[in-house]
Amino acid sequence: MRQMDKKEIFGMGLSELQSLFIDKGLKKYRADQVFDWLYKKSVFTFSEMKNIARSDAELMNDNFTVLPANVKILRRQQSADGLTTKDLVELTDGNTVETVSMKHDYGCSICVSSQVGCNMGCAFCASGIGGFVRNLSPQEILLQIALSNQLLVPAGGRISRIVVMGSGEPLLNLDAVLEALTFAHREDAFNISCRNMTVSTCGIVPGIDALAGKGIRLNLAISLHAANNDLRSELMPVNDTYALTEVIAAAERYARTSGRQVTYEYILIAGKNDSLTDAELLANALRFKHASVNLIPVNPVEEKGYRRPSTERIDAFLRFLQKRKINVTIRKEMGKDIDAACGQLRSKAMKR
Ligand code: SF4
Repeated sequence: MRQMDKKEIFGMGLSELQSLFIDKGLKKYRADQVFDWLYKKSVFTFSEMKNIARSDAELMNDNFTVLPANVKILRRQQSADGLTTKDLVELTDGNTVETVSMKHDYGCSICVSSQVGCNMGCAFCASGIGGFVRNLSPQEILLQIALSNQLLVPAGGRISRIVVMGSGEPLLNLDAVLEALTFAHREDAFNISCRNMTVSTCGIVPGIDALAGKGIRLNLAISLHAANNDLRSELMPVNDTYALTEVIAAAERYARTSGRQVTYEYILIAGKNDSLTDAELLANALRFKHASVNLIPVNPVEEKGYRRPSTERIDAFLRFLQKRKINVTIRKEMGKDIDAACGQLRSKAMKR
């Protein structure tokens, strides 16, 4: 059978896989074994699945492929400390997406992309530079986890946290994102707790309400980045459609429905949104909200000319929010030496 005529099995449910195997004359339990190899051990070649008889592995190889054709890691960068890995993943149609995995004291996390490119036009973001290309399928979201696990599992690690914060706006591809996360949550797949899954949005209000309506208790992160409408619209054009107060109101509805505290992401850009006046506006906007703030000193993006504030200015911003009883943290910076900001690696690859 030609490669392209073989059935792809990655991301397929177990019962469907069992039926397919039975149709091809394989025993049902072989599907359970293959499922285990794929999602627990990150082995994608039938002949390397040690408890599968060679004749069965050949039969599988003749009829199925694991990953979609031509999917591969086009470029892999690792930080000097070995804690952060950034993959540029090439998809079947030649498009590329970025994935970042990070090792922490408490486990391994991954930041996955949900779309190829993005049309939200956030001024500080490299993902949108080439515009929106297409949505990712659930399989394409899941395979970012699988490819990262392929590196981590042999060393005794595995992804235990997912943040959908790579390229793309996940709430504009909500069905695929939720299908992927639901699969990742399966005990016999990646077995990742919903508590350890975060969806990050630039503030698509109907999407936030739709997510709340699904009844899946995921963490929600909102990219806020400014606490007045003029500046937020300059940094994030989506604010012209869904203004600050509407976004915060939707986030509060989500917090009430899900019982989860919402995290507001705030990129600090020197001279733009890092003054104490900005901090005061932010504190006022989030007063009495079931929320926390994550401050992120900007990762400079060549094309945009944004600079990171001084350490003193970052500290002053942090202390101001703390004094106003806002639950606030500064994001630990990882992988600064490997273009860790969203879209930078893909953007560089596109220019070559
Ligand atoms: S920050 Fe997110 S929503 Fe905004 S352009 Fe980048 S990928 Fe799109």
